[in-house]
Amino acid sequence: MSKPKFHYECIDCGELYEESRIKYVCPVCSKSNSSDLPPKGVLKTIYNYVDLGSLDCEIKTKLVRKLIRNFDTFKLVDSVQARDLFNKIIGIYK
Ligand SMILES: [Zn+2]
Repeated sequence: MSKPKFHYECIDCGELYEESRIKYVCPVCSKSNSSDLPPKGVLKTIYNYVDLGSLDCEIKTKLVRKLIRNFDTFKLVDSVQARDLFNKIIGIYK
């Protein structure tokens, strides 16, 4: 299974919620919310950055530069297909 691309973090208590459990507020902190006070338990999105070493970064950067140079040689159908193709070539998302 692929690693989720992001998760949520409550700005008040710091509780983490997974991407698949989509929520707008922390269920614990939002219990005390009322309409005359600023909302508590707002969730912020934390992106899970790809864990690459410096050599990996250098290799991937060279790959990306090559892709840019040869961009016109790819037969691209739409943006989703293009994204999937380039992700596969670059190999960052497994
Ligand atoms: Zn919370």
